[in-house]
Amino acid sequence: MKLHYLGIALFAIGLGPVTAATAPHTHWSYTSPTGPDEWGDLHKDHALCNSGTQQSPINIKANTPGVLPALDIHYPAGPVVVKHHGHSLEVTTENKGYVALTSGNYNFVQLHFHAPAEEQIEGRQYPFSAHLVHRDASGNLAVITLLFDVGAKNKALAPLFASMPRHEGDSVILSKLDLASLFPAKRDYYAYMGSLTTPPCTEGVRWQVLKVSGTVSAKQLKAFKQLFPMNARPIQPTNGRMVKFGG
Ligand SMILES: [Zn+2]
Repeated sequence: MKLHYLGIALFAIGLGPVTAATAPHTHWSYTSPTGPDEWGDLHKDHALCNSGTQQSPINIKANTPGVLPALDIHYPAGPVVVKHHGHSLEVTTENKGYVALTSGNYNFVQLHFHAPAEEQIEGRQYPFSAHLVHRDASGNLAVITLLFDVGAKNKALAPLFASMPRHEGDSVILSKLDLASLFPAKRDYYAYMGSLTTPPCTEGVRWQVLKVSGTVSAKQLKAFKQLFPMNARPIQPTNGRMVKFGG
């Protein structure tokens, strides 16, 4: 693993990957014969990718109005590690960030990106998204999706786009990344129960998809897609799930 020190801050990587349950050496991808249609057959631990009934992503059609308070996020800005893990770039940090949901507090584990975005809103697919993965003290997962259109340059992500690790296994340390500044001012969201969108497709994941989208520039998106041309799982059946919305 090559490390490029871009900042003065150096720290130990203490967070375990959220996908620790994945069979470690099972190769999967976004194209056949190891693509999304085959994930469930690649390893017995991935069976839910085929047989699950609460899978993600979904085409979001809000069907259950409710009272969802604006997302209560707490992410201190600071140094982060950006790792190329083969399927996306993954951002981790030692800072103790968390999101407070009505079901409790979930600690930030990692952030990664998809191009195009995986979830759709009323059939619309955005060109880029970020998934912020969290875990509570009991191991329950909660993911926040930020959607991005092509438009103005994303200033918060500029340091990341400017120095992306280009090969699988490579990491870059950025001296500062402000996760909170990735969020829109109005933090209303859709909420539903789903799964991880990569093997092992674990269910019971609490999803929060922000309604207001941000932007990345065409140049930023192109730079990401040079590394990851397509890393989105196709839309999964909703199977009558509730999609709550408020705000
Ligand atoms: Zn994701």
